[in-house]
Amino acid sequence: MLAIEGVWTRYGAVEALRDVSIEVGQREIVTLVGANGAGKSTLLMTICGAPQAQKGRVLFEGRDITRMPTHEIMRLGLAQVPEGRRVFPRMSVMENLLMGAQVAGHDPKPLLDQVFALFPRLEERQAQRGGTLSGGEQQMLAIGRAMMSKPRLLLLDEPSLGLAPLIVRQIFAAIRDLNEKEGLTVLLVEQNANQALRLAHRGYVLVNGRITLRGSGQELLAMPEVRDAYLGGG
Ligand code: ATP
Repeated sequence: MLAIEGVWTRYGAVEALRDVSIEVGQREIVTLVGANGAGKSTLLMTICGAPQAQKGRVLFEGRDITRMPTHEIMRLGLAQVPEGRRVFPRMSVMENLLMGAQVAGHDPKPLLDQVFALFPRLEERQAQRGGTLSGGEQQMLAIGRAMMSKPRLLLLDEPSLGLAPLIVRQIFAAIRDLNEKEGLTVLLVEQNANQALRLAHRGYVLVNGRITLRGSGQELLAMPEVRDAYLGGG
């Protein structure tokens, strides 16, 4: 569904991605693990066309999107949940969700039902302003808003960041549900390697802008390099 082929992305003199190649198959959950500054966010942003790759190609369902403007890429059936969630703080939960549907021009009603079934908390809080939600609720809202555009591929940037373990488990369970029940394909970027690799069918490790390891979630979890660097040696 998504293929990244030999991509290089640079910010001025900083080479953030160096010859990165990854694939995400239909209905897969793929996790990209890496330390701070490894280039994880840059990879997701490069898929969305801002910044664009200097070299290499990004293909979505066989179509070359490397040089496409971001708004056109988003219309093809991708949705991104950026790091830090970025919900609209002064808008209500409902308004945030409706924005997601509006972007893609879908009938919001069935999508709202789906989001509320996934995150009942959002239904309870639908009139509350986004900025006053807890961190976990904001993450639910950010994912819910992305789902309102009915994507086939969801890009998630560190959904567990700053959240309590129980909330992280809820968020990851919701991602698994969307994958299993709705057939959603997911590319997940995480520092929380343990749970993210457990959730994933396959994964990659990114170090200083390069892919250094790849395998199934289970294989990666068992690798000493992964255990030492990302699982606290545990
Ligand atoms: P984190 O987990 O801390 O978010 P990351 O793996 O997502 O890290 P990126 O944010 O992709 O890493 O950053 C990769 C490299 O590119 C880092 O060295 C970072 O300082 C650099 N970088 C990121 N954004 C910019 C920018 N707008 N201008 C210049 N350099 C940048």
